[in-house]
Amino acid sequence: MDNFVSLVKEAAGKDPGMCILEDVKMKDYTTFKIGGPVRLMVFPENTDQLEQFIRMCDCYGVERLVIGNGSNLLVSDREHDIAVINMCRMDKVKVDDTIITAEAGAKLSKIAAYAQKSGLSGFEFASGIPGTMGGAVIMNAGAYGGEIKDVVVTVKVMEEGRAVKSYNNNECDFRYRHSKFDENDIVLSAAIRLKHEEPEKIRSRMEELAARRREKQPIAMPSAGSTFKRPERGYAAALIEESGLKGFAIGGAKVSEKHSGFIVNTGGASFDDVLSLIDYVKKTVFNKTGVVLSPEVKIIR
Ligand SMILES: Cc1cc2nc3c(=O)[nH]c(=O)nc-3n(C[C@H](O)[C@H](O)[C@H](O)COP(=O)(O)OP(=O)(O)OC[C@H]3O[C@@H](n4cnc5c(N)ncnc54)[C@H](O)[C@@H]3O)c2cc1C
Repeated sequence: MDNFVSLVKEAAGKDPGMCILEDVKMKDYTTFKIGGPVRLMVFPENTDQLEQFIRMCDCYGVERLVIGNGSNLLVSDREHDIAVINMCRMDKVKVDDTIITAEAGAKLSKIAAYAQKSGLSGFEFASGIPGTMGGAVIMNAGAYGGEIKDVVVTVKVMEEGRAVKSYNNNECDFRYRHSKFDENDIVLSAAIRLKHEEPEKIRSRMEELAARRREKQPIAMPSAGSTFKRPERGYAAALIEESGLKGFAIGGAKVSEKHSGFIVNTGGASFDDVLSLIDYVKKTVFNKTGVVLSPEVKIIR
């Protein structure tokens, strides 16, 4: 790893646009505020820098993790011998008639605000999801009756071997919190198709959805959103409540009293606290209701 870090630093020295950080804590890059140290985080600002970095990782056999806003991640507290690619600097958004094209690191809130100002409707559902376009495409994020799959026209991806390919919507295999893309694919950008509408109408819908979120969800507490996927029958939050687990805590991890589908970090929760609570909730819900819950959050051990 030391040789790899030296090589990357040397490359960064030659390219003033390439940004790297050494010895970062993942808890500073996840909305759960949990996660141990990583040796290197890079912040590419274009596809060339990304490709160059991947080539260096491959050459040294260094494992890599791509992150957006870290809002669907539960990362272990141990030291991680990996390189993290943080997409936040690839965040350009542009509009052409009813099509908005956003780079993977663009936050959904920024894209929604841009759509609203451009008088384009259909992305309001995503305005309060605290992720990026890349993270949203990977798991077909959705809320309030809308999903990424409803608006995506094409997704541009850098695949293993560094080939850049474009997929249209029906090639992405979008399903509930699922797409065809896996850890070898890096989403570079996505184009979405929206509809013309009066900006004021769009704004008021976004405000209404934001108010619903504030009322129902513990958005002021560190979390990764809904901990579990919607099961085949019922809703995770209702099943968790029915199983008597509302407010149940292990260490600093707690089933939110405001929304039982969220596990929140009440301060200083460890990875093990959250994982133990996830396991406990799964077992208890299964014993009481017969329903198997599976985590929606991506767990990095
Ligand atoms: C308060 C709160 C509310 C939430 N509400 C919702 C909601 O209503 N609906 C919903 O669907 N989700 C919700 N979430 C979860 C989360 O915001 C979404 O899953 C979001 O899509 C994750 O995006 P991200 O950029 O943060 O991804 P990250 O958490 O950074 O990463 C998630 C996964 O995507 C991968 N990934 C990220 N970017 C890329 C890329 N460019 N290329 C390849 N892989 C990539 C990562 O490797 C990881 O596997 C909520 C979370 C919080 C904290």
